[in-house]
Amino acid sequence: MFSVNPDFNVLVIGSGHAGVEAAWAAAQMGCRVGICTPSKDAVAEMPCNPAVGGTAKGHLVREIDALGGLMGLAIDATGIQFKLLNRSRGPAVWSPRAQADKKRYAAWVRARLEEHPRIEWVLGKASTLRPELGCSAKQRHCWLCDLEAGETVSALAVIVTTGTFLNGLIHIGPETFPSGRYGEQASCRLAESIRNLGFKMGRLKTGTPPRLDRRSIDFDGAVRRGQFTLEPGDTEPVPLSFMTTVLDRPQVMCWQVHTTGPVHDIVRANIHRSPLFNGQIRGIGPRYCPSLEDKVVRFPHRERHHVYLEPEGTDVDEIYVNGFSMSLPRKVQEAIVHAMPGLEDAIMLRPAYAVEYDFVQPTELGPTLESKRARRLFLAGQINGTSGYEEAAALGLVAGVNAALSVMGREPFVLGRSDAYIGVLVDDLVTQGCLEPYRMFTSRAEHRLLLRIDNADLRLTPAGREVGLVCDDRWGRFADRRKRLHRNLASLRDGVVATGNGRMPAVKWLRQPGVRLSGMLDRGEISLEIDPGSSSHDIATAETIVKYHGYLKREQSDVVRSRQNETRAIPRGFPYERVPGLSREMVQRFGEIEPATLGQAGRIPGVTPAALAVVGAYLERFRHDATGVQRAAGEAGPESEHQPGPPGR
Ligand SMILES: Cc1cc2nc3c(=O)[nH]c(=O)nc-3n(C[C@H](O)[C@H](O)[C@H](O)COP(=O)(O)OP(=O)(O)OC[C@H]3O[C@@H](n4cnc5c(N)ncnc54)[C@H](O)[C@@H]3O)c2cc1C
Repeated sequence: MFSVNPDFNVLVIGSGHAGVEAAWAAAQMGCRVGICTPSKDAVAEMPCNPAVGGTAKGHLVREIDALGGLMGLAIDATGIQFKLLNRSRGPAVWSPRAQADKKRYAAWVRARLEEHPRIEWVLGKASTLRPELGCSAKQRHCWLCDLEAGETVSALAVIVTTGTFLNGLIHIGPETFPSGRYGEQASCRLAESIRNLGFKMGRLKTGTPPRLDRRSIDFDGAVRRGQFTLEPGDTEPVPLSFMTTVLDRPQVMCWQVHTTGPVHDIVRANIHRSPLFNGQIRGIGPRYCPSLEDKVVRFPHRERHHVYLEPEGTDVDEIYVNGFSMSLPRKVQEAIVHAMPGLEDAIMLRPAYAVEYDFVQPTELGPTLESKRARRLFLAGQINGTSGYEEAAALGLVAGVNAALSVMGREPFVLGRSDAYIGVLVDDLVTQGCLEPYRMFTSRAEHRLLLRIDNADLRLTPAGREVGLVCDDRWGRFADRRKRLHRNLASLRDGVVATGNGRMPAVKWLRQPGVRLSGMLDRGEISLEIDPGSSSHDIATAETIVKYHGYLKREQSDVVRSRQNETRAIPRGFPYERVPGLSREMVQRFGEIEPATLGQAGRIPGVTPAALAVVGAYLERFRHDATGVQRAAGEAGPESEHQPGPPGR
């Protein structure tokens, strides 16, 4: 299928969480993939929190997994502590999270890429990207990527996933130095090359806490003295991948500790030395992930803040201090650490730091993450303005699938807001752009009850199979689970349950508040014909579908209603300036985003319902006129002077 000249069908620049999912997806779908990275040691690294999942992020991981991606499998294989968050709330917001053994996580992912027959490593730093026309008669378009060492590689499609490396600048108090992550070179030439392609870029900032030496902390003593509290994992760990049936590895302990008045005093006394507060840092940081300086200054009434001590692996000495990111000078950081209860003698292995970096405004991209400026150039991960491993991985998968589909000449793969959190993520980015690092929250999804962790496979595995990403093993297991679910739903629909007050239809019984199917089945308190192969996960899905039937139905009708606009495509090059009654401001907003559908057009910030209505009305007329023109052109033959209608997507 790919008998063309370039070195690769798809070249992925960067091997972080976005890069590895992009490379894996494109390779699984049959493409010859090159993965360009300065070193094989920089694969799927976790420069910050050694954890995967969490609220809304756990949803993303389940969705990546359901589509056939790597992240869920990787964390299940190497996780050291598992927790299901928000258990006391409804199933829409249950989110799995796992602490990673970060070295093993990276090694596991690297091994999967290394053993893939269609993935090849291109070791070096990419410095320039150039489109070349006419390199293959069949495809008539390819990309050339120059490496800093002088070599050039070519590919039909390129996916750039360089994270925080574009013009990365680290700050530790007054010290500043160019770096993408601590100890790794920034990418300045590639940043310039991307800017030269005309992309609109901005500057953001993120930060990470100090790492402490495990051997210098007396955890048991601090617990005995009441300075630390234990934070164990779940007794019945919930996996992040649908392929994992058991997680029986011993789990590590984490600890909680609190900041104190003396800690806050040190921060206040040194606030003028914080690059975040003295104007040294210009990039915008994530509001939802405040630094210690932010917490102390912005919430002066709070006497203490939670901090968690989390091991970065089972055989490493680094302890991650979650909630303690800062950019104060090293000596001040040490004083702060030593003022913390139980950390008086702790040795700081690495200081906290902040990093500023360039990103590309994601409004430069379409819903496939292909750039609107340059064909078959895709961007994914933190370069798009997001923050977080899971967001990066999700974007990497979308870009990898679409790059492969584009090379194969197949239809694009776009998930809607009612299909997946991944759909919400992409739509938010490409429609609204980023003013600050974007992180996924459950509140960003309007159809939360439909987008649960338990049904991510039911929502997405068929789509993953369709594009060629879901392997036979996963598909077989999925098909079995779907059969079990149908059987269980049928037996709930027809079943009757014996209660103290007589017999009751199972459906009615289950919809009562506080009634839980799983516990009662386990204890033999009810008898229903449940498929004997059912896992607790299968039971939970059936229970949720029955219990929340009314709410689910309502959300589904909302989706059907909104789908009208979501399926009304706006052709590329649509002449907004010709729409009668549309203000110049609206023409500009639509023109900047070039929405793919009327639904997306309605979500552009500042677009009024009136503007949307006139575009909708004109769209009909335009389509009608364009069809007429095309028909006339066809009838007139190839020499016709009539111009064809605007190219569709
Ligand atoms: C200091 C710091 C703190 C963070 N804090 C948080 C946090 O608290 N919470 C959170 O959710 N997220 C945090 N993040 C963000 C999280 O690490 C990223 O969002 C995520 O790793 C992004 O994945 P990515 O694949 O886009 O990029 P990365 O994981 O950064 O990977 C980029 C890859 O590109 C490669 N690369 C760069 N330039 C070139 C080039 N020219 N040629 C070839 N390869 C190149 C790099 O070697 C690397 O492999 C933090 C990141 C940093 C650096």
